[in-house]
Amino acid sequence: MRILPQDIDPRDFYQSKFDFYRRFSFWAVIFAAIGTLSYFVSDCQLFGGRFAWETLPARLTPLIPMTAFILISRKTRNYKTMGYATYFVIHCCIWCTMWAVYFLPDKTHFSEGSIVLQLAFFAVNFAFPWTMAVPMQTLHIVTILLTHPFIHYPNIDLLLSLNIPCWVAICLAHLVMQNLYIKHYQTTKRLEYISLYDPLTGAHNRHITKTLLQENTNLFKDELSQPLTAAMFDIDFFKRVNDQYGHANGDKVLKDFAKIVLRAKTNKDRFIRWGGEEFVLLMPDTGLDTAKEFIESIRIKVQKYNQGVCPVTVSAGIALYNGKDYRKLFNDADTALYTAKKNGRNQVAVFQE
Ligand code: GH3
Ligand code: MG
Ligand code: MG
Repeated sequence: MRILPQDIDPRDFYQSKFDFYRRFSFWAVIFAAIGTLSYFVSDCQLFGGRFAWETLPARLTPLIPMTAFILISRKTRNYKTMGYATYFVIHCCIWCTMWAVYFLPDKTHFSEGSIVLQLAFFAVNFAFPWTMAVPMQTLHIVTILLTHPFIHYPNIDLLLSLNIPCWVAICLAHLVMQNLYIKHYQTTKRLEYISLYDPLTGAHNRHITKTLLQENTNLFKDELSQPLTAAMFDIDFFKRVNDQYGHANGDKVLKDFAKIVLRAKTNKDRFIRWGGEEFVLLMPDTGLDTAKEFIESIRIKVQKYNQGVCPVTVSAGIALYNGKDYRKLFNDADTALYTAKKNGRNQVAVFQE
């Protein structure tokens, strides 16, 4: 049985937003790689206006991981794989920029360039959890320190004094934003759950029928593929259970009944609390004969259930969807249920036109 999701894992948030963030990362990666290539223009200027052939390989190289990213992002459905692929391209852009800086006659401008590269992190971090974003961004500072003995940045003090506050600010902004996103996501998920499930029994509540319908029609969506059968259940003499054993025990009977059906139904079936002690089971890909057999088996399970408050039986009415009007389906099932009640209860009746 489904329970109210109290603690929704933050990782679900990133996975659920995968398609949105894939586009986001795609454009961030393209801009980072093309942006790195565009630095070639300033390289030429730094070389006094001549063609800076020394830095050309370094400026072109990010296009290779960019292409790999495009291929990977099409194949994967895992936000972590896409995350590491994205950060890999961004770091490639940084490493290649450092490679180009090594050849430049004036290396002081790397301080501005490295800040622009931090902006790439700022953009990309939103798509990934802080456990991935913060270490990935820290690697940028580590790379500056590790490459200094080889490149000898003339203004390493300025480079660090610009980059470290930026790094701290971007990491903090990410933590705050992530907290907000996830709180919002968890609230939305809880509201979604409350709007779709009955808290007592774990069955869907009636609102789900709106979700299951095609907009502005009387037709069900394709997920309820035909032949579609509906069974309407009503617990027999339920008022007596309440009167004799109290309302709380009446609730327990409802829960036990729901548990029996939820365990027996297939994944495709939709179990709805229609109201009070009435429930509906929508069975896609199920004809009347199969449905009758299945509902009969549930009726027997309910009758034989011996761990409940007291012995209870259930009546059910079954009807077939005509593909034209969902309201008729529920009315027909209700009519059949009335027949089952009239004929003595604890039985399953099939709707006859
Ligand atoms: P029948 O065999 O004809 O269905 O008889 P019945 O006693 O079940 O009659 P009816 O369907 O009219 O009774 C429904 C009762 O269900 C009335 C109401 O007090 C009770 N009920 C509705 N919702 C709940 C609920 O959430 N909890 C409990 N404990 N009782 C409920
Ligand atoms: Mg009733
Ligand atoms: Mg009843």
